Amino acid sequence: MRGQIVIDVAENIAQLNRRIRDYERRYGRSENSVGLLAVSKRQSCASIRAAAAAGVRDFGENYLQEAQDKIDELAGLDLRWHYIGPIQANKTRGIADSFDWVHSVDRAKIATRLNDQRQGEPLQVCVQVNLSTEASKSGVLIAEAEALCDCISRLPKLSLRGLMAIPAPLPEFSQQRACFRELAQCFHHLKGRFPGLDTLSMGMSNDFEAAIAEGATCIRLGTVVFGPRPT
Ligand SMILES: *Cc1c(COP(=O)(O)O)cnc(C)c1O
Repeated sequence: MRGQIVIDVAENIAQLNRRIRDYERRYGRSENSVGLLAVSKRQSCASIRAAAAAGVRDFGENYLQEAQDKIDELAGLDLRWHYIGPIQANKTRGIADSFDWVHSVDRAKIATRLNDQRQGEPLQVCVQVNLSTEASKSGVLIAEAEALCDCISRLPKLSLRGLMAIPAPLPEFSQQRACFRELAQCFHHLKGRFPGLDTLSMGMSNDFEAAIAEGATCIRLGTVVFGPRPT
């Protein structure tokens, strides 16, 4: 085995829970309004078990094959699995079969395929938005989010729940907040038309305080939960 770093996942989670509750108070958010999604990509089943034992139920993955192996192995644990990665059309069936949530829907074609291939309970869906500061190609522009929400809201096997974004890393807290505020404003605007929207998926290890300050209901944390990802 390489390296001697011992990560205490349970201790990380206990500390994070305290920080999240502290930020909720500091920024006037109601208690327990921010949920922790543990991003377990490239992490082992042993690490996921440790997080589950510490009370985490929601896990995020972004490679289908890797995720399916873990979902099968951990089927006894009653976890909720969230797909948070880019979606190729030929992966929608596996995603529709294996996941409870998808945060990264960014075009109608993908939404339609997920709807057609989903069996059982509806898939819980967030639209991924590409904020103005992002160089990445994933996500709809804010101006296009409403049309995609409209499309999803008509698909019976998808339940439209919210918006997600992955802003480029920004050094300043005030810049991070400004970026998340853009998504939050779009969310509040769309909520007028789609009352079922209740999920604002934003904030990662380096910027989750700013995300909580701006109204995140789901923060997606990998490194601060599990330590650095194995390469
Ligand atoms: C990897 C990843 C995360 C977690 O990133 P950390 O910086 O390790 O917290 C969150 N969201 C998405 C979409 C990711 O791909």
